[in-house]
Amino acid sequence: MRQETLARSAWRVFHLRSATLNGKKGMMDIWILVQQRHFGIEEVTFGLIAEARHIIADVGKFGRITAVAFGNGLSEELPKLGAYGADRVIYLQEEDVAGYHGELFARELVRLVRRDKPSYLLTAQSAEADDLAPRLAALLETALISRTVDFKIGKNSQPYAVRTVSNGYLFEEIQIECPAPVIISFLPSVLTPDDPNERVRAEIQIEPLAAQPSDLKTKLIEVTEADPETLSLEEADVIVAGGRGVGKGESFDIIYQLAKALGACVGGTRPVIDWQTLPFESQIGQTGKTVAPRLIVNCGVSGANEYTAGMENSHLVIAINKDPRARIFRFADLGIIGDVHEILPTLIKRIQDLKDSGQASSAIYV
Ligand SMILES: Cc1cc2nc3c(=O)[nH]c(=O)nc-3n(C[C@H](O)[C@H](O)[C@H](O)COP(=O)(O)OP(=O)(O)OC[C@H]3O[C@@H](n4cnc5c(N)ncnc54)[C@H](O)[C@@H]3O)c2cc1C
Repeated sequence: MRQETLARSAWRVFHLRSATLNGKKGMMDIWILVQQRHFGIEEVTFGLIAEARHIIADVGKFGRITAVAFGNGLSEELPKLGAYGADRVIYLQEEDVAGYHGELFARELVRLVRRDKPSYLLTAQSAEADDLAPRLAALLETALISRTVDFKIGKNSQPYAVRTVSNGYLFEEIQIECPAPVIISFLPSVLTPDDPNERVRAEIQIEPLAAQPSDLKTKLIEVTEADPETLSLEEADVIVAGGRGVGKGESFDIIYQLAKALGACVGGTRPVIDWQTLPFESQIGQTGKTVAPRLIVNCGVSGANEYTAGMENSHLVIAINKDPRARIFRFADLGIIGDVHEILPTLIKRIQDLKDSGQASSAIYV
């Protein structure tokens, strides 16, 4: 599927020049950065483990996957990393670390990388990774390949990456020639986990943080949750997407009401952007954003392939359309045949009732 997406677009070949990537002789150690939210490991982390496994298979030699996690409250989640294929987990546990701290995490990672000398460091594009990865690249004097959609190791151990540029209109292929560890930051939508094996355990190494608060130039004061409606589509966990079937102007308000009830970000198809009901940044699809939220609710969307190219990696897909033959139903885990303007008010009321009774999250994610 990834190849199909790439084939649809022009590739611009661009060769990055610097020194030679040699990695360590013998075992290849690939590190992945664990992404977490509300004391749970995010699924993209398991996709990164699968990506690391493919890299090791490409090279055809013995390799180890190390997952690096920070913070506190994650201990019960760590066995999942082994089940999804990590061989080792380094858990930098610190009671006082609540949330992301770029300066602290970068310092600790640099210390560990210098100690263990991994060949590659993989992250998934996110607000935190977009902050951390450039810090690491600068401190380690290595390359950072961002917005990566494909990575492989060719003949003579030569690594190549393909990344999106020009707002997704173009892809460039990069030949990587620099000292290890190269940092590869993947678009979350291209990361798909392998099936977990609960019987497999990773070696878990718990380490205290070495940096003292007094060493740091910045101090984390408070973490405030963003309003989901203001998030960019790529970062949103839940998206409500409206299509031509919803209608213009006031008709589209129902989409905002559903988004508010679900704590979702609003996206749309090209006709909705052409009407200027939504800004261009809200367009999902081949010439818009590629998204992979946990839940996407498509309302009055036909499912043209230019649209589905941008959302087909979403985890749970709901479609509401009055045409039972609409293509969007082929992508839906749950399809509702009917008029959005009849269904959505009932759905919104039901969600609100569930929220009021404290059962909303289980209802939404089932
Ligand atoms: C080069 C190129 C690039 C493109 N890139 C993109 C892109 O990035 N993103 C994108 O979205 N499009 C893109 N398009 C356009 C794409 O081909 C489709 O035209 C577009 O996705 C259709 O949008 P839609 O589903 O909202 O509208 P339609 O295809 O018109 O579908 C509307 C749907 O709503 C249903 N409906 C109508 N009324 C109701 C109602 N009251 N209740 C429930 N259902 C109802 C209908 O049954 C229908 O299925 C591109 C096209 C080209 C040629």
